Amino acid sequence: MGAVVFIGAGPGTADLITVRGARRLAEADVVLYDALTDPALRDLAPLAQWLHVGKRGFRDDSTGQQDINALLVHHAQHSKLVVRLKGGDPSMFGRLEEELEALAEAGIASEVIPGVTAALAAAAASKRPLTRRGDGRSLSMTTAMTRTGDMHATRTADTEVFYMAGKQLAALAARLIDAGWPEGTPVSVVSRAGWPDARHSDHTIATLPDASEQHAGRPAVVTVGAGARPLNASLTEANLTQVSSDEPLKSRVPPDGGTSSSPSIPSEP
Ligand code: SAH
Repeated sequence: MGAVVFIGAGPGTADLITVRGARRLAEADVVLYDALTDPALRDLAPLAQWLHVGKRGFRDDSTGQQDINALLVHHAQHSKLVVRLKGGDPSMFGRLEEELEALAEAGIASEVIPGVTAALAAAAASKRPLTRRGDGRSLSMTTAMTRTGDMHATRTADTEVFYMAGKQLAALAARLIDAGWPEGTPVSVVSRAGWPDARHSDHTIATLPDASEQHAGRPAVVTVGAGARPLNASLTEANLTQVSSDEPLKSRVPPDGGTSSSPSIPSEP
């Protein structure tokens, strides 16, 4: 009887996995991986059997989940080390509880190795710190999609990051207003955070529906409130000068205040 290690692959390219995650992945006999994980991670465990068990978007996929649970148990019973590789962090919107429970019921040992969740990669890609001194003291990470497929939004923290909202930004904007956020609240949308073609756009709640086209068909997180606010321009300049002195500053500061892709992020090929 083997064991199962859940590993957070991070939200983008293979190098966002943790060192511990990479080491454990290299020991795997079987890897059950999700759709949003970088195929380049295969190089870390080239001799393992790689099985794709990904699903995209919300649907009533309890059967699919049961199949994954059964596969985990089956492979753990027939090999030494099974890795369950999940996009981002395994504990964030990844059905981890069902899989841990299935393993516990079968008496199989498990371990969880954390990963960088999409909200954090989006903050990094857009250079928008999620916490701000003074008015950004709390953070909420929320799925905007309910079990019935409706949109739901709240105002429980100074900064709220919404996962799984990309397809319904107009509905999200309406729910945010219902939840009491003022129309002019800053909103930052980042899609494919952590990938070379990451895209960032700035909005307010009133203009959030405009983001749909820019981020269509790409996994995106929507950050609302204090943590979405663009940095003070003079601070941004000082910061960018420090980070990259070999590149002219002008090319790195958005001429329109940031409504287009962030200048430090290569745009789509
Ligand atoms: N466990 C994952 C989240 C899985 S839910 C994590 O910790 O990041 C899937 C949702 O995550 C997507 O609908 C999207 O909202 C978000 N997401 C995943 N990868 C992303 C990425 N690279 N950039 C932006 N959002 C991403």
